Amino acid sequence: MERIETRGLVLYNRNFREDDKLVKIFTEKAGKRMFFVKHASKSKLVVSIQPMTYADFIVKINEDGLSYIEDFHQVQAFKQINQDIFRLSYATYVLALADACLQDKVYDPALFAFLVKTLDLMEAGLDYEVLTNIFEIQLLGRFGVSLNFHECAICHRVGLPFDFSYRYAGLLCPQHYHQDERRLHLDPNVPYLIERFQAISFDELETISLKEEMKQKLRLFIDQIYEEYVGIHLKSKKFIDDLSSWGQIMKPRETGEEK
Ligand SMILES: [Zn+2]
Repeated sequence: MERIETRGLVLYNRNFREDDKLVKIFTEKAGKRMFFVKHASKSKLVVSIQPMTYADFIVKINEDGLSYIEDFHQVQAFKQINQDIFRLSYATYVLALADACLQDKVYDPALFAFLVKTLDLMEAGLDYEVLTNIFEIQLLGRFGVSLNFHECAICHRVGLPFDFSYRYAGLLCPQHYHQDERRLHLDPNVPYLIERFQAISFDELETISLKEEMKQKLRLFIDQIYEEYVGIHLKSKKFIDDLSSWGQIMKPRETGEEK
C-alpha cells in the first residue's frame, strides 16, 4: 500500500457492519477511492468523513481493495451550504454528478479543482442554480457527450439566434430551422448562454447574473439534454425537482427586482 498526503473531498459515507463505515472520497492525487473506517463512532476520523468535508488527508492507498485514512488536518466544512436546504440540495447533486461521471481510481485533478471551486462559490453565496448549470454543461464531455453550441450544424455560421435540433444533435440557424420540424423552439438566449457556460472562467462566474425566467428555461433545456444524451437519474436531482415544485413557498422573498 502506498502512503500519500492529498487534498480530498468526501462524497458520501455509508454504514458497514456494526460500527464501521465505508467512505467515498474524491482525492486530488489518486482519484475517487473507497476508504474503510473501523469503529467509526469512536474514531478520531469521525469529523473528517461527513459528506462534503474538504481536508488534507494522509491515506494508505490500496490498488486492489479498500484504502485507509491515517490522519487528516485542515478540515473545511461548507457551513453556509449546510445551513440552507436549497444550497445543500444543489451542492449534493453536484457531488453526485462528479461521482457519476468519473470511474474510481482515475486521476482527474481538473475535475477535482472545478468541483471544489464550484462548492466554494456556492458557499460564498453565488447563484447555486447557475453554478449547477455550468457544472452540468462542463461535465458533458466526461459523460462522452460533445455538442457544438457555437455554429449552425448545416451552414456553420456563428452568432445567430440559434435553435437546437436532436436530429442534427446541434444548432440550426434561422435559415435552416425548417430542416427539423421538431426543433426545440428555444429562446435563442438559451443556446447562447450554454455556449458561454462551456468555456466560462472562474472569474467570469462571479459576475454572472440571470433572471428567474431565463434560469427556468436553462433548467428545462439542460434536463432535456441530460435525458437525451446522458441518461442518468440521480436521487439528488429528483430531490431538487421536488424541492422546486413546493419550495417556492419556503423560499424567502427577495425585495425589489429579481436578480
Ligand atoms: Zn444554417
